[in-house]
Amino acid sequence: MSHVFHRHCHQALPTIASGQGVYLTDTQGKRYLDACGGAAVSCLGHNHPAVLEAIHRQLDSIPYAHTGFFTSESSEALAKILADLAPPLINRAYLVSGGSEAMETALKLARQYWVEVGQPQRQHFIARRQSYHGNTLGALSVGGNAWRRAPFAPLLMDTSLIAPCYAYRDQGPDECAYQYGQRVANELETMLLEKGPETVIGFIAEPVVGATAGALTAETGYFTRIREICDQYNILLILDEVMCGTGRTGRFFAFEHEHIVPDIVAIAKGLAAGYQPIGATLVADPVYNAIANGSGFFQHGHTFMAHPTACAAALATLTTLEQEGLVDAAEKQGKALKTALHHQFDSSPFVGDIRGRGLFLALELVADKASKQPFSSTLPLAKQIKQTALENGLMCYPMGGTIDGKQGHHILLAPPYIIKSPH
Ligand code: PLP
Repeated sequence: MSHVFHRHCHQALPTIASGQGVYLTDTQGKRYLDACGGAAVSCLGHNHPAVLEAIHRQLDSIPYAHTGFFTSESSEALAKILADLAPPLINRAYLVSGGSEAMETALKLARQYWVEVGQPQRQHFIARRQSYHGNTLGALSVGGNAWRRAPFAPLLMDTSLIAPCYAYRDQGPDECAYQYGQRVANELETMLLEKGPETVIGFIAEPVVGATAGALTAETGYFTRIREICDQYNILLILDEVMCGTGRTGRFFAFEHEHIVPDIVAIAKGLAAGYQPIGATLVADPVYNAIANGSGFFQHGHTFMAHPTACAAALATLTTLEQEGLVDAAEKQGKALKTALHHQFDSSPFVGDIRGRGLFLALELVADKASKQPFSSTLPLAKQIKQTALENGLMCYPMGGTIDGKQGHHILLAPPYIIKSPH
């Protein structure tokens, strides 16, 4: 009997023993190729000496000190690197312990921003249907995954959800990709006018949708239009790059592909490559300044925020990404992997779409390719795929669940950026 409260109460999991590069090994000696980085976390692979050494060094000096009393060299250095990587307008990083905390921080920061500037009537978020922003109640409120939300629905904030940019399923026969992107982006304007723009805090989106839709990229021009609408109606643009950020798409921030700058952006999973739990909410100057020059206090915080050891691991991760040219490698290896996936699966009757950017790729599975009919079972199929892959020594990230009758199933692939193609 396990005394760990596992999320699947009746599922026996193998016990992990060690990891090296793109492989993990369990206590039975079985080896697994980590083709999904856990959940798009392990961007450096396992057991990277530079990160281990940085963590050891931090443990030898000061593992933890509360941020109510001290700042630390590792958190200051990490925030500086993040500000240097971000566009010039983004200069502050609020350091937390994971993706949900980073998104929760983003939501509360956005709300406090409007309180500080004298618009407390802004109480409403707009987000997108196929989206996941975390499991804490605030982050869950702005997510669109009906299955995750269902048991907690009465506890969640009222959020308006619009369509994501999902060309494979939604693009009309009479519109080109650009026109389609503009049409769905304009749903934001329609929703804003319906709610009253003066009541809205901000719009939330994953630049590349991860778990709920499978590496879903937007059509060219979609996010430019979204930014334009946010500016026109004076609402904040909050991007969730918890999964798609930190180099996974071949740019450090996925929004760089879209040529826009958000007001707030959350990153997490790849930030310390899984060696320590950490997330960050990066903030543009106008938002930070409103608080700094207003009350001077962000009404939020966590005991383990800006944890020195986690920050040291993140710092070493970012340095390693830079020194080993791994963000460029994610772009290059991503292209090679996508080509290989097309080669392997284009003729499969069950693979409807192959999509994504960099090393953030997915196969959308369909029961019928011509009609794009999803499989009727929801979670069991994803579970079965995951189990069969594991038995064959492969970690991949299948997800299922019909959302608005549209999503179906996909398999997400997000291997470490150190992965090499065999040729
Ligand atoms: N946002 C996105 C886009 C995610 O994919 C996730 C996790 O999968 C989260 C937020 C929540 O992150 P965490 O699981 O670290 O709390």
